[in-house]
Amino acid sequence: HLSKLPYMDTSIFTVMSSLAQKNQALNLSQGFPNFKSDQKLIDLVTNAMNSDYNQYAPMAGNLELRVAIANKFEKLYSTSYNPDSEITVTAGATQAIFTIISAVIKPDDEVIIFRPAYDCYEPAIALNGGKVISVQLEAPHYKVDWKEVKRKLSSKTKMVIINTPHNPSGTVFSEQDMLKLQELLAGTDIMVLSDEVYEHIIFDGEIHQSACLFPDLKSRSFIVASFGKTFHVTGWKVGYCCAPKDLMEEFRKVHQFNVFSVNHPMQKGLADYLQEPSHYRELSTLYQRKRDLFLSLIADSRFKFTPAQGTYFQVLDFSDITTENDVDFAKRLTIDHKIASVPLSVFNTDNLDNKVLRFCFAKTDDTLKQAADILNKI
Ligand code: PMP
Ligand code: GLN
Repeated sequence: HLSKLPYMDTSIFTVMSSLAQKNQALNLSQGFPNFKSDQKLIDLVTNAMNSDYNQYAPMAGNLELRVAIANKFEKLYSTSYNPDSEITVTAGATQAIFTIISAVIKPDDEVIIFRPAYDCYEPAIALNGGKVISVQLEAPHYKVDWKEVKRKLSSKTKMVIINTPHNPSGTVFSEQDMLKLQELLAGTDIMVLSDEVYEHIIFDGEIHQSACLFPDLKSRSFIVASFGKTFHVTGWKVGYCCAPKDLMEEFRKVHQFNVFSVNHPMQKGLADYLQEPSHYRELSTLYQRKRDLFLSLIADSRFKFTPAQGTYFQVLDFSDITTENDVDFAKRLTIDHKIASVPLSVFNTDNLDNKVLRFCFAKTDDTLKQAADILNKI
């Protein structure tokens, strides 16, 4: 066989976004804002380009940006990462995730993931010969059954991948969840990949439970973040990875050969922009307002929902509307009703009778109103 990923097709985000475009449908499928980023940030990047930040950045990332990231960890989580040896700037969270998995997963290593899971974890595990061990999260609350996790840990378990706030379900891990994970991993060499790209998008007074807040998790964790999500610039593809020095050394061995370094002017612009913490501190308020607007507008529709606790995704249950499967229904909504979403089953869910779609509410109020008008008629 030529293919290393024989079962892999084009990503659903690409499929649904193209289908939306072809049918001139409102696109609430792929997760990206349809409003502009802050002009200040764009000006800072422009300044960086005019100030000669146009050659290779250092392999680990622009130092000012790494220092700004370290300062953010101090401010938000009262914990320190050394910018020299424990922080690396990446080409988005996707590259960080791929690099982490390539750096540490060997053939036959087992990796525990929670399904539904963001789509880029499993192919990276497969390409490195690892084995996915899945734990299914059930609608509507998508809570982890830690007893099941305990049963699935084995002498071959190399890593557990967590993602809070969680794409696609919009749920978040509680402090109890994190403590449970910490307890289960105590005394083992199992690593954690903590995908925290939605760390600043969390609602109703909940607190983001970063892996760095739990010392025995921090010491075994790669934390991944994305500026695309935080500053409404998903197209820039800049993110970062933080990990203790020994793990970061392994990460950089791969990073230096799969990207070497990340585009420089964006990094300098982001470093300057991060000097003002309100830029990320205001994010939850913005998106909570959008979630509430969207949900209040569709409260009388036939879709059922539990409000998202974080992320900019809302899952809607359509079991009162049709017996179609979620992929067929999502396609029909796009083609006939001109609204695109993402069927949950594509997040590798083990639940074949899934009747849930994911809608992205990182959209202008006007788009959310148009979306609600359509959903209310279905
Ligand atoms: N992890 C999760 C959970 C995501 O939702 C995304 C993308 N939205 C990523 C990682 C990838 O982020 P990036 O666009 O920075 O590569
Ligand atoms: N993370 C985005 C989402 O969940 C999509 C990113 C992508 O298209 N790969 O919709």
